[in-house]
Amino acid sequence: MIDDYRHKGLRRKLVEEVRSKGISDPRILSAIESIPRHFFMDSSFVEFAYQDKPFPIGSGQTISQPYTVAFQTELLQVEKGCKVLEVGTGSGYQACVLAFIGARVYSIERHHSLYLKAKELIAHLNFHSRVFYGDGYKGLSTHAPFDRILVTAGATQIPDALLQQLKIGGKLVIPVGVGATQIMKRITKKALEDYQVEEFGTFRFVPLLQNKV
Ligand code: SAH
Repeated sequence: MIDDYRHKGLRRKLVEEVRSKGISDPRILSAIESIPRHFFMDSSFVEFAYQDKPFPIGSGQTISQPYTVAFQTELLQVEKGCKVLEVGTGSGYQACVLAFIGARVYSIERHHSLYLKAKELIAHLNFHSRVFYGDGYKGLSTHAPFDRILVTAGATQIPDALLQQLKIGGKLVIPVGVGATQIMKRITKKALEDYQVEEFGTFRFVPLLQNKV
């Protein structure tokens, strides 16, 4: 696939759109301007890659809307060198945004074909995000604890394993809801068994599944 001046121009427009919706972190805007989102999409949707919309990526899953990627990343308050677990690698786009802003990324995906595709693309683009195949509902105990955990699928409740695998002072960003939509939550682990919960509006994600690997 190629990345030419036309794609770069479309990315600059997308950055302006995402900025106008309230995203201000320059590192995140720069990630959107730099990462070729069209590489992460099914070839039939390449023309739509720079619209601020989610799109199908195969296996019934979607690449999140760029605004949502930026919003979740901003909520996560990533500092350089932070060890971040992403649950739901999908296309791998979010994992690259996190790596771009300096995170040490561990990303887990339950669909084997998506896992393989994302792993290959991330390596091809030279991002240092590690991708794992498995059930992220259980976290990634072999590499825990994490400074930050980002869930990019809608959960019906907050998985206990993710709270356990968070460092003290760490943050978990997760959309939670039982119906078609979820409330974006940020949980800060103040101390063992002491959590602060904040809420940030309504979103619509594909479901976080449990015990399906
Ligand atoms: N972050 C992705 C978008 C993710 S869509 C991107 O940037 O493209 C949500 C993803 O979560 C889907 O790929 C889905 O297969 C995955 N998923 C759902 N339940 C999961 C689980 N228990 N463990 C790991 N991945 C899961």
